Amino acid sequence: MFELNDKVAIVTGSGSLKGIGRDIALKLAEQGASIVVADLNVEGIEDTVKAVENAGAKALGVELNVTNKESVDAMIEKVLAEFGRIDILVNNAGISQKVTVEDMTLEDVQRIFNVNMFGLFLCSQAVLKPMKEQKFGRIINLSSVSAKRGGGVFGGAHYSASKAAVLGFAKNLAREVATDGITVNCVAPGLVNTEIWKSLPEADAAKVIDGIPLGRPGETNEIASTIAFLASEEASYITGEDIDINGGSHM
Ligand code: NAD
Repeated sequence: MFELNDKVAIVTGSGSLKGIGRDIALKLAEQGASIVVADLNVEGIEDTVKAVENAGAKALGVELNVTNKESVDAMIEKVLAEFGRIDILVNNAGISQKVTVEDMTLEDVQRIFNVNMFGLFLCSQAVLKPMKEQKFGRIINLSSVSAKRGGGVFGGAHYSASKAAVLGFAKNLAREVATDGITVNCVAPGLVNTEIWKSLPEADAAKVIDGIPLGRPGETNEIASTIAFLASEEASYITGEDIDINGGSHM
């Protein structure tokens, strides 16, 4: 589909067995990239590493806490020691919580922002030096439809706010590094067919489907293929953009 031979891609949060990150890792691997499977969840890392290797690509598993600068710096060091370069960063690690603003605590807000925004900042900042030296880089962030139209059944206002912050951050960074050969883009998925979707009571699921013109949730590979495009040479003139992948639920 898209040629990513000799490229090295870090995918944060790719140790979730049924998550989007795992499929992003596999899709980039199928296009020829070497994959860094980075996650807080150590058991999941091994599984994704095996799947990437079965797809015929090189994989490096790294335990990572995106909220911790030492952990992020240690990952970058390991990746450079193993592969000598970093071409693609997919900021996929993210957390959510369903809670009303009335019941939300400041700690809830801080916890969500710590991972979804501050962790994304730490990872993005850490790849800039190697990407600038290479004069090539692709940073791709997972935002969400809830950044644009509010949450709904899954996430609270703090989640929506953190995913909106990601959009603004990406546009600023895109301007800063444009002449260094680095592009920065976001994807904004609607509801995706992951564990959280499957756990939804039937009546709630039917209500959600009603609001999606395509009449179904997205599949993880549909998010992954857009990311593979943004990572590729074919997307070389796209930066500071966010691409909606939501079946028409927000146009
Ligand atoms: P998921 O929970 O299946 O996977 C998230 C992964 O991030 C997990 O493996 C988890 O261990 C990891 N993670 C959490 N905190 C971390 C930390 N501090 N350091 C490193 N890794 C950490 O989630 P998902 O549904 O696959 O979502 C992936 C991304 O897509 C998230 O950013 C999410 O907000 C976004 N998104 C998801 C949906 C959806 O419907 N699932 C919709 C829109 C956006």
